[in-house]
Amino acid sequence: MIVEEAPGIFSVPHSAAEGKNVIVLGQDSAFAIDVGTYPEEGRQMADFIRERGYTPNRVIITHGHRDHILGGAVFRGSDVFAPRKTLDEIQRQIPGLCRQMGLEEGQIRARILQPTITFEKQLWIDLGDRQLHLFPTPGHSLDIVSIYVADCRLLIASDTVVTGIVPAIFYDSAALETSINQLKQLEIETLIAGHGPALHGKAGILDWLNWLTAYIGGVRGAVSSLIEAGEREREVIIESVEYDEYIGDRLPKDKHGMPKRHRNAVAKIVAEELARRCCD
Ligand SMILES: [Zn+2]
Repeated sequence: MIVEEAPGIFSVPHSAAEGKNVIVLGQDSAFAIDVGTYPEEGRQMADFIRERGYTPNRVIITHGHRDHILGGAVFRGSDVFAPRKTLDEIQRQIPGLCRQMGLEEGQIRARILQPTITFEKQLWIDLGDRQLHLFPTPGHSLDIVSIYVADCRLLIASDTVVTGIVPAIFYDSAALETSINQLKQLEIETLIAGHGPALHGKAGILDWLNWLTAYIGGVRGAVSSLIEAGEREREVIIESVEYDEYIGDRLPKDKHGMPKRHRNAVAKIVAEELARRCCD
């Protein structure tokens, strides 16, 4: 169900782990923000934009992962804004996408909505009566941006903040912590997460951001202690950082392969901590 989270800003569910795309309506134009994995997911967004009296011809891609770039066939020919680094991220994803989806490279390339307008660090986009501020929040991936809409104090966090799954860390856990800590400095009344329910209300949002950084920091602390104590067996370290202690009832254990997601996050942090010590 498409939900109006703030005036003129809608979350649009997609199939990947309670995924949320976003539509922003402004005085001059409407934006689709990320386009899902499947063509019908992008089409639903374009239809909605058209129903509201706009031409669906402006898109923002927050980062180059499959569930943000593969559903956009309907938006071909649009202005597609994305961080410059997303061009590289998309290239990096292609071999894995071929394997995961059982498609040839040409078929995958045909599905990807390629950015047409890229930017280096930050970008402000003017919609007449409102502005979108795109800024980097690396960690989940290297290229990812969040989008702040000041007029309604709303943050489109993409996968930098997830509320329905354990954070997925593909780039760097310390960078992700730093990015989330930066978000805590913003006035946020509504937060649309990349996966999971939108959050409303400053206190609840801050509580969730604090939990995320405490989780990442807590896992890193546990991993570091074990390594400092001489443990070098990855499996032993990973198994020691238990789901129930670090996630508890913050997330539903029986959904979206949650224990595996926790394990993936721990394994990433173990790899980082071992690598850091070997190069010190
Ligand atoms: Zn992602």
